[in-house]
Amino acid sequence: MTNTLKYFIGNWKMFGDFNSLKIANQISNFSRHFKKKGKKYKVVLCVPHTLLNYFNEKLKSKFVSIGAQNCHYYQNYGPYTGSINANMIKKVGAKYVILGHSENRIEGETNHLIKKKIESAINQKLNIIFCIGETAKEKKRGKTFLTIMKQIKGSISKKYDLNKIIIAYEPVWSIGTGKIPKTLELKKIFKFIKIKFKKTFKTKKPPVVLYGGSVNPNNIRIFSSISDIDGFLIGGASQSSKKFIDIIKNYYK
Ligand code: PEP
Repeated sequence: MTNTLKYFIGNWKMFGDFNSLKIANQISNFSRHFKKKGKKYKVVLCVPHTLLNYFNEKLKSKFVSIGAQNCHYYQNYGPYTGSINANMIKKVGAKYVILGHSENRIEGETNHLIKKKIESAINQKLNIIFCIGETAKEKKRGKTFLTIMKQIKGSISKKYDLNKIIIAYEPVWSIGTGKIPKTLELKKIFKFIKIKFKKTFKTKKPPVVLYGGSVNPNNIRIFSSISDIDGFLIGGASQSSKKFIDIIKNYYK
């Protein structure tokens, strides 16, 4: 059921300028030297569009991959002011893109729109970090499982290259709040996502599923006991190299 490779993915959100390259360099240097016997992990930094090209050129690190935080669904150039498409992201060297983040769902992204974005990113062979998760209201009404299933079924098709899709379970009520789900709840949710995904899309392997929401160096040990968690999407704490590095160190303690 578990994938042994663990992911530590930073979502910088609307943060960073050229000086922030030093944060990425510190993380890259750490990853180059931090070897744990038998432990395989991958680090990705999803930075604002303005830094994609710069980081890709300057970082030149095989220890840190670069990702974007969203893209337009349209595959070509077009009349979409302020947008960039998956091909443009690919051309500047990014390998990953976050899609369906709750901060964009709040702005009006629907499951259908996210599906079109996933399709365009798959066509460019980008790795997709597809965010799902229930709101506080949905949780209170006992609708967690229903919500995440609707999000998965509404945005993924079995004709996609499903190996390119990483799911990030991010309860909306946990993002940036310091609140995290109970261990037992998480165990049930991760099993549910893996089993349902495999059954729905008739895949041989379960998907890679990350947890995101208020992960920090102090609470990371709580998650390391849950073997179905294949890694983490880390928001606020990824903007500090110290916190991001301590998360990885403490995870493997
Ligand atoms: C996120 O925005 O994807 C996230 C997980 O944020 P935070 O870690 O700050 O809760």
